Amino acid sequence: MIQHVDEAIVLRTWPFHEADLLVSLFTRVQGKVKGVARHALRSRRRFGGALEPMTHVRATYAEKPRQELVRLDAFEILSSPMSRPVDYARVAALEMVAEVLEEAMPEGAPEDAVFRLAIAVLEQLEVGRVWMPVTYFALWMNRLMGWMPELGHCSACGLDLRGWTIWYSAASDGVTCADDRRPGSMAVSAESVALAGRMFRGTVKGLAAEEWPKTRGADLRRFAIEVLERHLEGRLLSARLLR
Ligand SMILES: [Zn+2]
Repeated sequence: MIQHVDEAIVLRTWPFHEADLLVSLFTRVQGKVKGVARHALRSRRRFGGALEPMTHVRATYAEKPRQELVRLDAFEILSSPMSRPVDYARVAALEMVAEVLEEAMPEGAPEDAVFRLAIAVLEQLEVGRVWMPVTYFALWMNRLMGWMPELGHCSACGLDLRGWTIWYSAASDGVTCADDRRPGSMAVSAESVALAGRMFRGTVKGLAAEEWPKTRGADLRRFAIEVLERHLEGRLLSARLLR
């Protein structure tokens, strides 16, 4: 049996047997792991309050030979999203980050850049201020996963699109000019494309100092979420809640 103590983010839990929980964790060193928290519903001492999605914990767990599920022994909370005020939008945003990580990350493959992105975004997700961090997260996840389309040129005619509205269809890769847009394409304004450039150059903490009402970069957020959904091959339930 191999014992691990690793920083982790709780992604999702499912009831398992009687009082146990199956927990999906995104760990810093081992990547995503699934494990069983025995008697979690009864043992508040070992897991109390640490099983909400997006809780940042130090997890102690044991890997058993030839077994897919690890044994979760204890979670120490490093930061809990529930220790700060919550509303519907913030809960939906937290769930979106957890859902994307759950769907996108393969088991057992560490991704330190994704882990650091998640922690940085989590810190900025405050009541009334979720729109920018969610957009930042979706854009950066696409980039780190290698899913981000090139925004500077039309994928059909090669036209330089810098400074222009771009068009995106979830039915194909790349973005196009207005003339080559495919049926059902969505537009991302030149202003929002410029915001994407700033998000790729800046930190989420730095950008959070600005005012970001829901309408600012709304087309960019929809675009980033549609690119994620195209690659995850399914609708993100939490993204629908967020809209
Ligand atoms: Zn074109």
